[in-house]
Amino acid sequence: MTTWHEFYQEKGYGPKWPYSIKFGEEQRIDTDVLIIGGGISGCWAAISAARKGVRVAIVEKGATVRSGAGGPGCDHWCDVPANPLSKVDPDEWAHGLSNGPYACGIGREIQCRENYDTLLELEKMGGKIRDTEDKHKGVEGRDDATKFMISPRYNANHEHNVVIRVWGTTFKPALKKECQRLGVKIYDRVMATSLLTKDSRQGGRVIGATGLNNRTGEFMIFNAKATILATAVGGSLWLLNTELGGYNTFLSRTISGDGIAMAWKAGAEFTMMEHTQSLHLGTGFKHEWYTGAGDASYENVPSVDNNGKALPVVTEPGWDKKITWEMMRTQWDRVREGIMSGEFELPFYGDFPQMKDVERETTWNMMLKEESTTKIIVDTYTGSGFDPARDQLMMYQLIEGNSPPQWRSNGAGGLMVDWNLKTNLDGLYAAGMQIYSAADHSFAAATGRYAGRKAADYASQIDDPVITEDQVRIEKERVYAPVNRNSGIDWKELHAGISKVMRYFCSEFKTETILNIGLERLKDIEKNWSPRLFALDPHKLMRSLEDLSMLTHARLIMESSLARKASSRYLDFHRIDYPEYDPPEWNKFITVKLDGGAVFTREKPFDYAGDLKKNYEANNLDYTGVYAE
Ligand SMILES: Cc1cc2nc3c(=O)[nH]c(=O)nc-3n(C[C@H](O)[C@H](O)[C@H](O)COP(=O)(O)OP(=O)(O)OC[C@H]3O[C@@H](n4cnc5c(N)ncnc54)[C@H](O)[C@@H]3O)c2cc1C
Repeated sequence: MTTWHEFYQEKGYGPKWPYSIKFGEEQRIDTDVLIIGGGISGCWAAISAARKGVRVAIVEKGATVRSGAGGPGCDHWCDVPANPLSKVDPDEWAHGLSNGPYACGIGREIQCRENYDTLLELEKMGGKIRDTEDKHKGVEGRDDATKFMISPRYNANHEHNVVIRVWGTTFKPALKKECQRLGVKIYDRVMATSLLTKDSRQGGRVIGATGLNNRTGEFMIFNAKATILATAVGGSLWLLNTELGGYNTFLSRTISGDGIAMAWKAGAEFTMMEHTQSLHLGTGFKHEWYTGAGDASYENVPSVDNNGKALPVVTEPGWDKKITWEMMRTQWDRVREGIMSGEFELPFYGDFPQMKDVERETTWNMMLKEESTTKIIVDTYTGSGFDPARDQLMMYQLIEGNSPPQWRSNGAGGLMVDWNLKTNLDGLYAAGMQIYSAADHSFAAATGRYAGRKAADYASQIDDPVITEDQVRIEKERVYAPVNRNSGIDWKELHAGISKVMRYFCSEFKTETILNIGLERLKDIEKNWSPRLFALDPHKLMRSLEDLSMLTHARLIMESSLARKASSRYLDFHRIDYPEYDPPEWNKFITVKLDGGAVFTREKPFDYAGDLKKNYEANNLDYTGVYAE
């Protein structure tokens, strides 16, 4: 069968590549702090590093102004216990969030201590965080003095006041502008491909990175005293779905596990990579969230059945420890039983007309427009004549449950970090979702801001790095290999193959035997199929390199799954050969890393960060709060 590429090559016609191609040409950049990923955490890292007076560069695969999961918007600034309306103590709140197993206590303490300062700093840059025009006067949770809007949903009985409703569409442009004002060099449309290490040694100090311009194909070499990895998590490893929900499972299309792959190859230590979960979103088949009522931006929209009968409220647990996942499941079981018995009739609706005008206006015209993905719902429905004062919004809630469990997505795995948000590698820091057990937007912002100042301090006292040219040459050969072929397999085929291996051999239930077969299959792909990848233009070359990141990421998940010889409910991790769930001796972090090409595992107790309040303070004696001009 002739592929599109072969057809294109044979016929020699088709759309022309709109940029001049510079395959093989090099650009060299010297900087003090290099940020890989210009999303929420990356931009914040750049700003706080630049405020310290060092030279900063961002390398971003997309366009920084809107890139990443938080680029299009955000409607809740979560876990901000230091805000003036809060009724809780920041350290106690952080302790509560970190109290369970597998939490990232360091990240949570930073978030709770610093994300209010972060929010105020954002306001100074032009981010909108208050109802300054009094448009939402009278809405539940609005404070007339500060004009902050406390989220009603995440604030059961007005007990905490720790989540603030915000105008997140203003954030990313404001962050980019501030980066530019501070002289941060932004390299948009450049995919970082590898980390450079001192003497080219796995486990050595990280001294920069390489990249590929995905428009021109130019090769970029960044020489940096400190590097912050902020590329979020992984892409769609278990499913290739270009026609329905798109490629990724929930996050931005640019997020494909590149940071994970490059850090792993450099010898960085990861944890919780065995945690994967059933795919809830992005398949196009299942819309449990983000439609109608009862969740996220729809927070206070009442859910009703086809006859207008109120459904038991189903809210997400977490902030208010009184609502547990177990209780939530019980609520859904109850709704399900009600459907089967005829008590509730499908379909269900978000009952906007039932809401007070001011509440409806805020939810429909502020929250849903600020959240990001839901803006299209508001625009499309409004454009089609939908009026929330009159019309209910259908909830596409199915009773069959989630997607098939073999359609999985990444879990909470990520880089292990210390109190400087430094990884085990000198010169390499992590921020946002790149850290294990990361939380949300304000977590990304606060950890980015924190990592930026720590990396800048390190860069200020370390000598200039010297790049090993051999390491650059080898990476360059790897990067351009697909464009040096003109036939073979394309990125979609390779992606589909990797996904199939993950579905077969790293699915919901695992054993030593199938995981080892899976590893063999991945090695087979690496040895026999990756060398057949071919790409005709810089865009497809980027897609091909993303596949190779995925292959590495897949291996890391399998290695981590082999390392944990116990099942765990917390990790949604089911080993048929070790059926006991969460046996006490396995209640710990298992870490994995490469050293000299071999996999090493270690363990760390859940409380390795020690006393959060004490250690935060000891590590931040110089922290002065909001930056003053
Ligand atoms: C639809 C949606 C709505 C959300 N709403 C909220 C909300 O209301 N409140 C909330 O708290 N959280 C929300 N979140 C979560 C929040 O957006 C994320 O927690 C946050 O963006 C994480 O920040 P990050 O910096 O880790 O990753 P991102 O902001 O995603 O940034 C990662 C960046 O890395 C870049 N990148 C990836 N690979 C490479 C590479 N190889 N080279 C260079 N660059 C690379 C990407 O292009 C991207 O810009 C939402 C998420 C989504 C998807």
